Amino acid sequence: MLGPIQKTISKQIEFRGIGHHSGLESVVKIIPADENYGIVFKRSDIKQNNIIEANIENVSSAKLCTTIQNNFNVSVSTVEHLLAALYITGIDNALIEINAPEVPIMDGSSKEFVETILKIGNKKQNAKRKYLKILKKFEFKENEKLISIEPNESSLNVDFQLVYSNSVIGKQRNKINFSDKDLLNVYTSRTFCLFEDVEQIKKIGLAKGGSLDNAIVVKDDKILNSTGLRNNKEFVNHKILDLAGDFLLSGHRILGSVTCIQGGHSLSNLFLRNLLKDRSNYSIVELEESKTIKSYFKTPVNKLAVNA
Ligand SMILES: [Zn+2]
Repeated sequence: MLGPIQKTISKQIEFRGIGHHSGLESVVKIIPADENYGIVFKRSDIKQNNIIEANIENVSSAKLCTTIQNNFNVSVSTVEHLLAALYITGIDNALIEINAPEVPIMDGSSKEFVETILKIGNKKQNAKRKYLKILKKFEFKENEKLISIEPNESSLNVDFQLVYSNSVIGKQRNKINFSDKDLLNVYTSRTFCLFEDVEQIKKIGLAKGGSLDNAIVVKDDKILNSTGLRNNKEFVNHKILDLAGDFLLSGHRILGSVTCIQGGHSLSNLFLRNLLKDRSNYSIVELEESKTIKSYFKTPVNKLAVNA
């Protein structure tokens, strides 16, 4: 468990890179914020109406990446890997200033975000964290795709199944407990695509910044990246990372056991909207100190090397 107390980062940090879909360079600053502030984006390249709260109501698109937008049509896209990093490192409150419409893709995973936040550390605050606790089984289906959730007293557990006709990706399944596992293989897993889809994605104006430096590209029975995979379930692990980032848009960390089959940003978004519509599905709770697991990360920060 990430613990009962809200946290912010200990000091401001900064990242630079290019947007995966826009190809635009950007600088992202993560700035400490007060208790109960939540995660809020600010487009520093726009003078007015530039605040976008990271919540499900503000999701304007979930096609290939997650985009949030305020009532003045000011948006920021590809928020999911940064949100997943905040989820994993236990950051509740932060102002995220960005001078472009898309969060930089970095290496296609949350590795750099997580490692930097772990390095500088967090600050405990004077308020209890509020969790979204699932009270009964809830399921959302779309054709062969499914997300279902059941009550869990103390953690978010995710059982994710991925099925691709491509033989390299194939069928992958992994179960992750976000409370007591070393999450290295989740936060270092990169986004991926099929070589034959690249042209199609570029045609609709996306993936302009995509390259082998920030995505795994699979062509027939080969991985085109010369360094290969970082772990043997990298594809499904990345989908679990995406799910954690998208789920933080509920405004809380979730206590529940998730089963996901063939999920993605769009399904996660629809699932959350439908789940939250009915108040009898969940309650907002605080945790007791006794449920805290002190040593959350088993891997020391200085050993967070990629297990290539
Ligand atoms: Zn992703």
